[in-house]
Amino acid sequence: MNKLGTAEIPARVAVVGSGPSGFYAAEALLGSETEVKVDMFDRLPAPFGLVRYGVAPDHGKIKNVTKVYEKTAARPGFSFYGNVEVGRDISLDELRQYYDAVIFTSGAQTDRHLGIPGEDVPGSHPATEFVAWYNGHPDYTDCAFDLSHESAVVIGVGNVAVDVARILAKSADELKTTDIAEHALDALAAGKIRDIHLIGRRGPAQAKFTAQELKELGELEICDIVINDADLELNPESQAELDEPKNKGAIKIYKLLTEFAAKQPEGKERRLFLHFLESPVEMTGDGRLNQVTLERNALEGEPGRQKSVGTGAKEALDCGILFRSVGYRGVAIPGVPFRDDWGIIPNDDGRVTETVDGPVVPGLYTAGWIKRGPSGIIGTNKPCSIATVKHLLEDLPSLVPCVARDDGAVGELLAGRGIKFVDYEAWKKIDAVEIERGEAKGKPREKIVRVDDMLSIAGL
Ligand code: NAP
Repeated sequence: MNKLGTAEIPARVAVVGSGPSGFYAAEALLGSETEVKVDMFDRLPAPFGLVRYGVAPDHGKIKNVTKVYEKTAARPGFSFYGNVEVGRDISLDELRQYYDAVIFTSGAQTDRHLGIPGEDVPGSHPATEFVAWYNGHPDYTDCAFDLSHESAVVIGVGNVAVDVARILAKSADELKTTDIAEHALDALAAGKIRDIHLIGRRGPAQAKFTAQELKELGELEICDIVINDADLELNPESQAELDEPKNKGAIKIYKLLTEFAAKQPEGKERRLFLHFLESPVEMTGDGRLNQVTLERNALEGEPGRQKSVGTGAKEALDCGILFRSVGYRGVAIPGVPFRDDWGIIPNDDGRVTETVDGPVVPGLYTAGWIKRGPSGIIGTNKPCSIATVKHLLEDLPSLVPCVARDDGAVGELLAGRGIKFVDYEAWKKIDAVEIERGEAKGKPREKIVRVDDMLSIAGL
């Protein structure tokens, strides 16, 4: 038994990733009875991960959750190391010399593939890239999206697909008071998209978006919503799913969809078509995308476990741009076990394991999307992180204490390597400039979209 977590030897924990799950883990540690110091690392100079770079710009209220994270950052014992990539700037072996435990909360940074012919034709993009681009993520600032066509397709009917469709369906006037990146606002304002098609492979009873997000689609200022009655027909298994009182969300969604379908389009300048029971099977174009072939699907399986199967009936849909919004995937960190088929770190309720069902790796933990996959809303990460921290605190007496326990040692190592790390004070300078630049334009903030510019504002 060691004395980790006492006033004599405060436990030293590194949190890798500064999104919601990272902050909820830090809060659970710093708010516990145990004496802990938390150093949070992020490969970007700005904290907040998904809240800053994933939540849609027109969902400003959701972003207010950063106020909670700021309180955590103000707690004694918390330090931020932005612009530091674990696995590149500092290895896992090195982290283990400075910390008794490491929690990976690096989220799901990349996209899943459809695996169909023509998927990589220019004009077909992962939705993750478009989202990161309009949210001012430095890695995606220079992405180009050709919005000069009238028709856009979004594959998938989850909340990310809805976000993408809604951003395409809103006017520049509606977006200009959000924190959307300037380059994206300019490109969208100059764009010509008029028709947006959202494509679901299963039926309306299996849609993944939430009722609140769907409701917003029916309230768009310059965009009508169009649904084909035939797409809302239910097979007996789907009807059985909706007859289950516990499926409250799905029942609400189906009701909204039938209301939308019954409504006459008002002749607004844009139209959003919701398709169900269709899968893309090929994308074609002469050098760039101009058509996607959709196959009609039927559902097979028991209620609650229905899968889509192609019927062979195919139809081509003209489109100049397509976004594949079929789920996110985690990215492996060098030296950290990774389950490639699921895109997660294998774990036993937050304790990292060598392989699936394999032995626990002492001192390594995980929380959030990289622990359980990309599901749930931001708040879902709170209990997830709390569960992981509970295990960490239980394990503390049996962990091998790290060798380098000096608070400034990691900073010295990084500085010695020429790495300009952004601490929380430096981030607040960037934050203040963003807010000031935003105020001048009637926006909550104008994000700085280049790492060099952020570092120079931070005085680094
Ligand atoms: P998601 O909810 O898992 O939705 C993925 C969609 O892609 C589903 O409709 C899925 O259909 C479809 N799909 C998967 N593979 C496909 C394929 N091969 N062909 C065609 N369609 C395919 O994922 P997400 O939209 O990326 O969202 C991730 C999480 O973030 C979710 O929990 C979401 O609620 C959350 N989020 C929340 C908000 C918000 O609260 N405002 C905003 C954005 C994201 P199947 O159902 O048939 O698999």
